[in-house]
Amino acid sequence: MLQRTLSIVKPDGVSKGLIGEVIRRFEREGLRVVALKMVHLDKEEAKGFYAVHRGKPFFESLTDFMSSGPVVVMVLEGEDAIERTRKIMGATDPRKADPGTLRREFASNIEQNVVHGSDAPETAASEIAYFFNALEIHSH
Ligand code: GDP
Repeated sequence: MLQRTLSIVKPDGVSKGLIGEVIRRFEREGLRVVALKMVHLDKEEAKGFYAVHRGKPFFESLTDFMSSGPVVVMVLEGEDAIERTRKIMGATDPRKADPGTLRREFASNIEQNVVHGSDAPETAASEIAYFFNALEIHSH
């Protein structure tokens, strides 16, 4: 099924110089970048993005981290884009991520894990709409 998903190069990925590496791996697997921009979320915007995690013990720390520097947000398009993106990323905890995945190779810890990818069609739709309007997304 042709899908779209939202991915983010998180502040640690940007500061480690991994923007190109992340995009290269997605493109290498045939995913297409159909929207892309750099933004610096403020604390409230980070809370809004991760609202599903409100109340969890790591919520404050996570939203501090996500608002600590610029991020690169992108929409990826392709067959089964959601699952394929998550496979390239690897498990949330880099110690549990498969060898060769972005998080295994580059993440510092379970929080500072370089990259985000939507986990289901419904979250992909709402996450894409959080950052992009229809005129900013270009299928090609
Ligand atoms: P994801 O879909 O793999 O990104 O994982 P989740 O949706 O479960 O969590 C969202 C983000 O919160 C993760 O990517 C991490 O940055 C962070 N996170 C998840 N679990 C933990 C945790 O146990 N501790 C901390 N400090 N951060 C976490």
